[in-house]
Amino acid sequence: MLSNLYRYFLNSAARLSQHCVLCGVGGQGWLCPPCRADLPRLAAGRCPRCATPGRQGALCAACRQSPPPWQALHVAHPYAWPLDALLHAFKYRQQLALARPLAELMAEGVRHAPRPDWLAPIPLSAARLRERGFNQSEELARQLGKILRLPCQADTLLRTRDTPAQAGLNRAGRLHNLAGAFAVNRPVEGRFIVLIDDVSTTGATLAEAAQSLARQGARRVEAWALMKALTHGA
Ligand SMILES: [Zn+2]
Ligand SMILES: [Zn+2]
Repeated sequence: MLSNLYRYFLNSAARLSQHCVLCGVGGQGWLCPPCRADLPRLAAGRCPRCATPGRQGALCAACRQSPPPWQALHVAHPYAWPLDALLHAFKYRQQLALARPLAELMAEGVRHAPRPDWLAPIPLSAARLRERGFNQSEELARQLGKILRLPCQADTLLRTRDTPAQAGLNRAGRLHNLAGAFAVNRPVEGRFIVLIDDVSTTGATLAEAAQSLARQGARRVEAWALMKALTHGA
């Protein structure tokens, strides 16, 4: 399995639709139906506000006590093999061709979600953008917009400052770290906006972004993410 994955990383975008990234079988798209069926998925029963596994359709205890500043979080996959490896290749090895198939997975996960006015990717800090060369959430949002025929407004939010890395901080630390990190750059009053992020870990980034939009009068804010990390708490 691994060797196929690495072989795939070395290949060009042209091969993307011809060989399954996981098992190498040809002619059935980038992820063949059996491998697609084997992808880890979050349990169907999960909190509609934060996607924490629980009773289907019921708010979890944390969201009942203190609901997040968005109306719904749509995420279908846990942060786990093999999607974590694909995301890593996409982000850190500039495998930009992966944006399309990863966005297709996101699109499947939001089949039944209400359609927003537009998609707004979480912006990277200027330093991170320089280092990486692209914003993975923006690439996902652009592809998702094409698939779902929704506008993607990548300049909806701006980072007002570089924030220290979030890794190693708990939720409270992350929220503090991010306070005031986003500025709203276009009129959002009365609009329904969907935030796009690659991974939701504690939800602190999405919370700060959603709050910024709500403060500017957005009518509804949802978040769509490719994966949710379940090991670091909600
Ligand atoms: Zn396969
Ligand atoms: Zn919840």
